[in-house]
Amino acid sequence: MFDWSSLDGIDFEGFDPSEVRSIVTNYVCSHCYATLVPFQVPNDRIYVIACSECGVSIEQIGAVSKNTVSIRYEQANREFKRVITNLKDLYPSIQHMSAIQHTPLREGETETGRNVRELGF
Ligand SMILES: [Zn+2]
Repeated sequence: MFDWSSLDGIDFEGFDPSEVRSIVTNYVCSHCYATLVPFQVPNDRIYVIACSECGVSIEQIGAVSKNTVSIRYEQANREFKRVITNLKDLYPSIQHMSAIQHTPLREGETETGRNVRELGF
């Protein structure tokens, strides 16, 4: 549920119903890349679109396209593999990738996405 008090003192415009589906389908939160959720403003036709994880309106924190996130994930995955390879050179005791204990995959999260999240991106 969206915390409407988070908009107190914020000059927000909201989104027209015709924009909501496209935004929710094509964009994610700029902070954590989680999916976006629309909330209709009570007694109005406009919507606030907020992050499903942060719970903050994208008018406050922004949104990025899923295509951009996909590109960032691929870049991060390549970097992750390079770093792991270097770690194995530096620390011979790391013999197998399976020695890395991953956190469980979140709903809809790819393994690459999990790697990126675990690296703190
Ligand atoms: Zn978020």
